[in-house]
Amino acid sequence: MEILFLEPVFKTMVWGGDRLRTEYGYDIPNDFTGECWAISAHPNGDCTIKNGTYKGKTLSWLWENKRHLFGNRSEQTFPLLVKIIDAKQDLSIQVHPSDSYAYTHENGALGKTECWYILDCDVNAEIVIGHNAKDKEELEYMIENDKWDELIRLRNIRKGDFFQINPGTVHAIKEGTLLLETQQNSDITYRLYDYGRLVDGKPRQLHIKESIDVINCPHKDAIIDDKIIKRNNCEIRELIKNKHYTLKKISIYNDGEITLNQDKDFMNISVIEGNGEIDKAPITKGDHFILCTGYGKFKLKGNMELIVSYID
Ligand code: ZN
Repeated sequence: MEILFLEPVFKTMVWGGDRLRTEYGYDIPNDFTGECWAISAHPNGDCTIKNGTYKGKTLSWLWENKRHLFGNRSEQTFPLLVKIIDAKQDLSIQVHPSDSYAYTHENGALGKTECWYILDCDVNAEIVIGHNAKDKEELEYMIENDKWDELIRLRNIRKGDFFQINPGTVHAIKEGTLLLETQQNSDITYRLYDYGRLVDGKPRQLHIKESIDVINCPHKDAIIDDKIIKRNNCEIRELIKNKHYTLKKISIYNDGEITLNQDKDFMNISVIEGNGEIDKAPITKGDHFILCTGYGKFKLKGNMELIVSYID
């Protein structure tokens, strides 16, 4: 059965850098490339299949016309979106709506649950996750009076950390961070604060009312149940499992090999470190591919780390 290798789409961002070229070897458009949309059927960045029968077709075309490859799932669009983000500078502080809020206020769109696997970061790198307001009233007061330092919760991060960002969670990626984001296929973001930055001489649009509407008060950190299975020269770490996605990190050392089973509707795989092979096809850091319905057993071999995502 064919593996669907994907051609990523790149996004220029004020806060982007060049690490998607220097560390991943991608042919990026410029030195302000913030995002690589690696597995995506979103209209703002639809990946193309690189190989085989469907070479040149987009992922959204396959979802539309060959739905059996994805277990004939009922979602209108391919449900997940996998990105690599290179934050050379701070991203704006933002929050995403839940499915129900987005449905009512954004023309039936989906909300956005996302998660981050830290691929690499500076020694003292931080992220924003959560806030310190005890209720909506205090939240509004702190926002209206520019008390950002008191409001925002910062956290130190290290390579290999994993964070789940539920809808309603105030969050931001900060400078010096390279991460893999897996999210619901949605692009709805409410920008709460942009550090007073100007882009082309103007501040970017903020969405204060919507943000206050959807921010959870008080903030609660998502619960992450990190399970690790070790086998000979391999390790499988379950990062998260919820109704939107399950994520696992697979590490293979010393030319180790492992046989796994693809028995889901589809399985997304990103090679985040090293190289090796899948069923004898060579794969390397920066490759992203999908194993379709019925793929069954597959063998990974080499020295590499991979992030796998699917819907259970
Ligand atoms: Zn976000």
